[in-house]
Amino acid sequence: MKNIIFLIFTLFLIGCGKQYAPVVHDKNILPYTQEFTDASQSYGVNSRLSRISLKFSNIPEADVLGQCIIYTKKDALGVEYEYGRTIEISTKWWNVSTESERSQLLTHELGHCSLNRDHRAGYIESRYGGTIRLSLMNPYRLQDEEYTEYLKYYLEELFRPKVNSIEFIASMTDSPTSDYAVYASKSDTFLTSMIEHNHNVHIDHRLEKDPCVKVVNVDEEKTETEEMEEQEQSEE
Ligand SMILES: [Zn+2]
Repeated sequence: MKNIIFLIFTLFLIGCGKQYAPVVHDKNILPYTQEFTDASQSYGVNSRLSRISLKFSNIPEADVLGQCIIYTKKDALGVEYEYGRTIEISTKWWNVSTESERSQLLTHELGHCSLNRDHRAGYIESRYGGTIRLSLMNPYRLQDEEYTEYLKYYLEELFRPKVNSIEFIASMTDSPTSDYAVYASKSDTFLTSMIEHNHNVHIDHRLEKDPCVKVVNVDEEKTETEEMEEQEQSEE
């Protein structure tokens, strides 16, 4: 019994050192997460939306429409832990985007923030012309037609990336090696491993792109802000 009390007490102490960021959902963004939460429910996966903030931001990089930020903090013992997650959406882009583009972006960002998915830039190319990208986790936004036509596949791929891509590639042709070529980035170890299984996979180095997940330490961020304020004060 003594041991149990000690354990509970220790857990309580450890828990005490941690604070978590409050979760805020911008009411204009929230409806566009429906596609993702419906899909996660049908795959029996917790969307974790109750732990992810959604907000608008003036993202300075013009080609970044949204990003998943993981905030970390140090607890009372100096050990870094995850403080909170936020999906930031570019205000400028939002004002010129369509309904379907907004849904696509939120589903993509939740792929990062909720499912911890990295980018997957691979695509298949038909010898009859045209390309079909293999994932909604492509670093570049999909065309509306591409997105809507293969939406069922794209949503499934988020939750079952390996199984589903094999099925999809197979469904696109009876003979993958002659009709379709698969292009993958070097870091997509799943797709590149298909090479060993006689699929016609090519490595395309242009597909490498920086991830759009940022890790920010709240303590350091605060220090920077404080420094800036101090500088401003000394300039006045
Ligand atoms: Zn991304």
